[in-house]
Amino acid sequence: MSAQIIDGKQIAEQIKREVKEGTELLKTTRGVTPGLAFILVGENPASQVYVRMKGKGCEEVGFRSVTEQLPATVSEQTLLEKVNEFNNDPKIHGILVQLPLPKHINEQKVFEAISPGKDVDGFHPINVGRMVVGGPTFKPCTPAGIQELLMRSGNDPAGKHVVIVGRSNIVGKPIANILLQKQAGANAVVTVAHTGAKDLRMYIKTADILIAAIGKAEFITGEMLKEGAVVIDVGINRIDDPAARGGYRLVGDVHFESARHVAKAITPVPGGVGPMTIAMLLSNTLKAARNSSEE
Ligand code: NDP
Repeated sequence: MSAQIIDGKQIAEQIKREVKEGTELLKTTRGVTPGLAFILVGENPASQVYVRMKGKGCEEVGFRSVTEQLPATVSEQTLLEKVNEFNNDPKIHGILVQLPLPKHINEQKVFEAISPGKDVDGFHPINVGRMVVGGPTFKPCTPAGIQELLMRSGNDPAGKHVVIVGRSNIVGKPIANILLQKQAGANAVVTVAHTGAKDLRMYIKTADILIAAIGKAEFITGEMLKEGAVVIDVGINRIDDPAARGGYRLVGDVHFESARHVAKAITPVPGGVGPMTIAMLLSNTLKAARNSSEE
């Protein structure tokens, strides 16, 4: 058996086309152009690349975007003031503070400073709470992208046993909450495993849908999977590869080659979950702009 490859790039492009259409409609019917503000603290090269890619995504769909670059030494107070400026700017509908932040800044305090209506990353406690009770919210982008990948690839999680390995606040916990809701696109039976699991293999073996968000290169192999499982690999890990340009390549938390002969469907790394994160950020920002025009 060779698995269906779930093409995240293609699905993300489709979502971007939909966001672009929605943006054009919002501009012509309400005169509103969605605006997204990025706050980037310090010179972390990976963060710079992410913000650049997100800015490019904004351009593609017709958003306005601004980037506020602050030095790594910026005080927490100055950062919070910047957030507040964007909270009060009617042309800005979404605010994204790129993580990680320097150690002297309290991440949670920053999340709480963003107006919940502009919290397009979905990390404000009000939005997290609404997600848990199944209310209207901004779902965090990576988990929202996973749900879209499942639905748009014909792998509805309803009634399925979903096993998530990893319980971080940005991936594991939110995707568990999203998929267990009694709602379309969800209604799964969810197990969340982590380093405290006594028999991790036993949980993985019972997964109809396995979501790996561990951060360990090729940790899950084909023989660990249930025959016919759907595998969503969130992991992005660098491994040495002298034959590759730059001397390394990216792999997931799942050993792709062995898994694809056992799984029914699988996301590749790169080109699976990764591209979906930006697409969902754009989708959340369009939603925020629509909401603001209805107030
Ligand atoms: P974290 O490091 O925050 O969390 C990892 C989780 O995996 C923890 O809950 C940890 O358990 C669990 N874990 C680690 N080792 C084991 C083990 N041996 N057995 C069982 N559980 C284990 O990672 P993130 O959630 O932030 O990210 C996970 C991966 O996804 C990373 O590779 C990251 O780069 C990638 N990622 C990709 C994104 C994308 O857009 N595609 C977005 C975000 C992340 P415990 O809690 O017990 O320590």
